[in-house]
Amino acid sequence: MTRVFSGIQPSGELHIGNYLGAVKNWVALQGQHESFFCIVNYHAITVAYLPDDLRRRTRDMAISLLASGLDEAKCTLFVQSDVPEHTELQWIFNTVTPLGELERQVQFKDKAGKQEQVMAGLLNYPVLQAADILLYLADTVPVGEDQVQHLELSRVVARNWNARFSPDAPYFPEPQPKLTPTRRIVGLDGQAKMSKSLGNTIGLLETPDEMWNKLRPAITDPARQRKTDPGTPENCKTVFELHKAFSSAETVKEVDENCRGAKWGCIDCKKVLHANMVAELTPIRTRAEALQANPKQVDALLAEGGRKARAVAQETIRTVKDKMGLDARG
Ligand code: SF4
Repeated sequence: MTRVFSGIQPSGELHIGNYLGAVKNWVALQGQHESFFCIVNYHAITVAYLPDDLRRRTRDMAISLLASGLDEAKCTLFVQSDVPEHTELQWIFNTVTPLGELERQVQFKDKAGKQEQVMAGLLNYPVLQAADILLYLADTVPVGEDQVQHLELSRVVARNWNARFSPDAPYFPEPQPKLTPTRRIVGLDGQAKMSKSLGNTIGLLETPDEMWNKLRPAITDPARQRKTDPGTPENCKTVFELHKAFSSAETVKEVDENCRGAKWGCIDCKKVLHANMVAELTPIRTRAEALQANPKQVDALLAEGGRKARAVAQETIRTVKDKMGLDARG
């Protein structure tokens, strides 16, 4: 069975961009592959943060993931810091990763350019990502387009380590990306990718009224100033894309025709979208409310996921140490 690994930052409650761009796909994959899904809290500490806030965001993320349909019977859901072998393998991989490979990572250059003082953790972030994946010998990684370069680095790391310590029979697989079907959800501003830091999101667990209050003013095709102006759905980056994600193929066809033919106003179109979003997201919100009322259950599920993940991780580290001569007493 193929092994899948993917991680998500502990950013608190999911928004619909994360849900459509990553988590919905994880739910589909969990029964078909041996799946490890990790809340990557070590990746979240390269910037300033408050410890209590990180703790809360980690649990809230777990609640969103479980409510979205991740099932502990079909996958291993865990928190990265519960498995110390992630950082152990990262140190080992630091010793086979050329500095130049890290310095040319686009995300590093983008983020470093915005910070006064750049911490080494920001540069080494992709090495920890390689360790996250390879610790589970995962051969498939569901990713968004912006993560493809990091995954390429994981392959370089696997190749370099295999060449030095396992040349005859490569131990680490070179993980391949599996691009998520919904690649990029544009935010309500119609401009940038949906992101909490830009304030252009709809939260996954928001009530129908809260969702409508955000959807109603969302930017649409600028050519549609009046209801009688014909539109081009492709120019409506947010609402049309959300229809493709939440509405049936028939409805998407209807939206396309009614937009081009100026038969619907944008509010009519958004009302249909809102109804379809509410239909899909209400059961998720109901499950989340039950989990929020029982945080001990969530903590127990994460602890059990951590135990399962650690058993696999320890096996990998044992083999790695053996091949590298790090098992000092044989
Ligand atoms: Fe967008 Fe719908 Fe308005 Fe067309 S009718 S511009 S798809 S909101």
